[in-house]
Amino acid sequence: MKTKVFKKATFAVIVTMLLVSNAVHGQEQPSIVKHEIYPHWYYFEKEEGVPVLTVKDFVPICKAEFGLSESDELDVKDVTFLDELAIEKSADSRTRCIKYQQYYNGYEVESSVIVTFDMSDTITVVTGNLVGNLNIDTSEPISQEAALNVALGAVTGTFIWQDSILMDGYCMDEDGNFDSICYNRFLPKGELCLARKFGDGFTPNNIRFVWRFLINTTTAEYRVLVNAKNGEIYDVAEVTKDGQYAKGNVQTLHDGYITNEMETFKCSLCLRWKLQNSHGNKTVLNGRKVKSRTNEWTDSSEAPATTAHWIIGQLADFYRIKYLNYTISEDTYINAGIPDYENAQYVGSNNTIEIGEMDNHWLSTIDIIGHELAHRLVDLSANLEYYGESGALNESFADIFGTLAERFIRTNHGRNWNWTLGEDAVTLRSMSNPLLYSDPDHYQGQYWVDPQSGGDYGGVHTNSGVQNKWFYNLSQTIGPDKAGLVAYYMLHLYLTPTSNYHDALFASVFAAENLFGRCSDERSKVISAWQSVGVSSANIPFCASNEQGAERFSVDEIDNMLIYMEVYPNPASGVVYIEFSDELDEGVIEIYNSTGIKVDEILVRNKMVSIGTNHLPNGLYLINAVANGRSVNNAKVLINN
Ligand SMILES: [Zn+2]
Repeated sequence: MKTKVFKKATFAVIVTMLLVSNAVHGQEQPSIVKHEIYPHWYYFEKEEGVPVLTVKDFVPICKAEFGLSESDELDVKDVTFLDELAIEKSADSRTRCIKYQQYYNGYEVESSVIVTFDMSDTITVVTGNLVGNLNIDTSEPISQEAALNVALGAVTGTFIWQDSILMDGYCMDEDGNFDSICYNRFLPKGELCLARKFGDGFTPNNIRFVWRFLINTTTAEYRVLVNAKNGEIYDVAEVTKDGQYAKGNVQTLHDGYITNEMETFKCSLCLRWKLQNSHGNKTVLNGRKVKSRTNEWTDSSEAPATTAHWIIGQLADFYRIKYLNYTISEDTYINAGIPDYENAQYVGSNNTIEIGEMDNHWLSTIDIIGHELAHRLVDLSANLEYYGESGALNESFADIFGTLAERFIRTNHGRNWNWTLGEDAVTLRSMSNPLLYSDPDHYQGQYWVDPQSGGDYGGVHTNSGVQNKWFYNLSQTIGPDKAGLVAYYMLHLYLTPTSNYHDALFASVFAAENLFGRCSDERSKVISAWQSVGVSSANIPFCASNEQGAERFSVDEIDNMLIYMEVYPNPASGVVYIEFSDELDEGVIEIYNSTGIKVDEILVRNKMVSIGTNHLPNGLYLINAVANGRSVNNAKVLINN
């Protein structure tokens, strides 16, 4: 049996190869096609004669597909052109990413975010999670004051705004004046919204109309939900990033005496310099300000704070230079050198990093502070829920960017870096070999913690080992810079608050396509790195190099550009023949297996070529070719040796 050459049909076939093929054909409108296995991923079925779905039409069609009513709105939260994301330009620069937030009766539905990707207004991919069929009374909520009283009663500990030493350290200026704007940052902020308990399913009956507060004690941060109708507590969840588990030990000055790098501040009438920089970062030592008359900071008793302050400035450079992100460290407070506090943590609601000590080692190290600041990066992008698999991804991204920051800073100073976390104090984790610290290096493998019931918010600091190992393996093949860009794109584009490990797999594949091209070697490496840690899918769309070309040209133009290819017999046994419509000066045939991995590549100079198949396991393969510098229609072939 011969595979018939497609002519005009090429356009539709190429595009639909990317899609899950369970769509109802013959519809008048474009429709959203749900992925067969992974429920957060959707594609737009495109057929000949059917209008493409444009951004303008997305909201009404999406609302209908997800069961959203007239009470629901989808508001644009963020728009990104891929070129704006990082200093290295994307292969896919024209793609635009739009994030929508769901509102119900005007109130935010927490974590209900959907993302579209379009090129020239035509939507290609959709991902995220919305809640349809809500039927919730949002009339006459109780007052914020009444709700706050209930919320405060549900939290134990000393509230941070009641701790005068800490408040003085953070919010007292050089002349001893108390800054009330600073102080107000630490007071609980209430918001009316629709939310569920962390860990509960994302379904309408788990969602309540609540007052949501973020409440800080001197040691932790809590997200408290108070039912806005009846005034009862609905949920209390600790959300301090690393609040109980992150550890580090640091003697400061692991990087020697560094001149002209740490940015400090002295007011016009002041006599002394203090640890404050132009990004709004302030650093204190156990709640006290550290000052210097000479702008020399060599007192070893102050080293936890001065080192941390140097590091936060270096981190700002890292994000600015590598990712065009000028604001990531802005207004971050660091309280370093807290004695008898065996922890480092990030408190999102007031953007504070708290750093203690362990085994007589201060935790002011590059990778630990880099890790904590990376939690802010996650909060401001994918905002992964700090629970279960999404929490493990959150932790892993913090390790990834903490380590990439260490690499950047140490390399700039002619020093060595490594894949362990916290080693300047006490080593906490290894990205190259997570097993060394009892973390899994394989999805659901040894040391894996049950995300639903395990401690540490469902094993966030343990199950992070799987993505850490993925990132390490990927870096071995395409280098840490490119791997870092993939991670950065995943966070900013494809991951949403409820994403899990399989979403991360898909997100990274799309990110690699955006960055390096649809059939790039980097894309294959991303997939094989996931396979090496036990995360794989037979449903990753085939790579099809001329798919993007098809997007950009009319059907007639494609007809003029393409060389056609016939593949036969199909199924093939022992040998498969590939015949081109034109004489070839030079061509490349690539063969991909059903997981998108390239398994063979053949250079050809003849109009027809035969390829032995005995070295290939039986299964479905994609044949992809470039000939005379032009794209060729691709074809699937079943090999049955
Ligand atoms: Zn963390």
